[in-house]
Amino acid sequence: MDTINLIEKLEQTHILEKEEYSYLITSCKKEETEILFQKARDMQKKYYKNEVYSRGLIEFTDYCKNNCFYCGIRSGNTKAERYRLSCEEILSCAEEGYRLGFRTFVLQGGEDSFYSTEDIGSLVSEIKKRYPDCAVTLSVGEQEREVYEYWYGCGADRYLLRHETATKEHYEKLHPPALSFEHRIQCLYWLKEIGYQVGAGFMVGSPYQTAECLADDLLFLKKLMPHMVGIGPFIAQKDSPFASFPNGTLEETLLMLALVRLTLPHVLLPATTALGTIHPDGRELGILAGANVVMPNLSPAEVRKKYQLYDNKICTGEESAQCLDSLSKRVSSIGYQLVSKRGDCAGF
Ligand code: SAH
Repeated sequence: MDTINLIEKLEQTHILEKEEYSYLITSCKKEETEILFQKARDMQKKYYKNEVYSRGLIEFTDYCKNNCFYCGIRSGNTKAERYRLSCEEILSCAEEGYRLGFRTFVLQGGEDSFYSTEDIGSLVSEIKKRYPDCAVTLSVGEQEREVYEYWYGCGADRYLLRHETATKEHYEKLHPPALSFEHRIQCLYWLKEIGYQVGAGFMVGSPYQTAECLADDLLFLKKLMPHMVGIGPFIAQKDSPFASFPNGTLEETLLMLALVRLTLPHVLLPATTALGTIHPDGRELGILAGANVVMPNLSPAEVRKKYQLYDNKICTGEESAQCLDSLSKRVSSIGYQLVSKRGDCAGF
């Protein structure tokens, strides 16, 4: 197989065979990845020009009933400092965010039954009532279909639920038996059927992941056709069962971003906080590999450090919403423009 031929084929047809994807993932040399990134940038510009969208991320609870082996806020982590934001605090984060220019709010948290379905629903309707020009995204894990329908009825526009891995055997190595691969995937299809703009995604370099797993992730995404794909490197969390596993690398994460951009040309692709954590210019490099979204933190400064999904999460400086200005300068320095828009997916 010839790498450059494969990159050109992907650019034209937006799909490869599984073996072709895994070949690219394992064999792409430095000069070839530069060509791949250029094509990914061209594709992004075709649909989104030089615009980068922002989302205000409100991490409103780090209590979670699940025990995902990689995650710092998993229920079994007795060292995690737990917090919950009240509805008033969440609304004031949104108020601050609106003032700063955000037109999308993402409410993310662990699976925390302290907040009832109705609590979340009224938060969504209140935010939509106060800021009708904004999109509200929920990211609170696996729920029953009726719950997703209820929140959609309250005005939620989008839902982020990373599939984490499209390989069942791999999923089972990352999660305890109480969590089911089939249910997670089912949730994603429900969300799409209900009408949400859906975000799936996965970690790069998670324990036991192979190039075949990553190829399956790309093929799964092609089938699901989500509006957004969240990809970041796995970063070991010191109190987790995966504490001694190596982190995912910058290079491999950038490669996967570019492959997703060429596989799903219209997709919204964030340059994630995890990418900014493993490299000081991670997010800029992500944009240069085809990403077009950033998600600065809007949570109150005192809780930001507690939402530790992984170690050393950047959580004081430019990643936060208050430093939107300097983030905006960083984005401009590579020839893009951070815009104050809802930033819907260009392809649906
Ligand atoms: N409870 C919600 C939100 C989960 S946290 C849900 O289930 O969707 C958001 C994402 O952080 C997860 O989907 C996971 O992909 C990522 N994450 C968790 N632990 C991580 C780690 N150690 N390194 C990198 N990313 C991690």
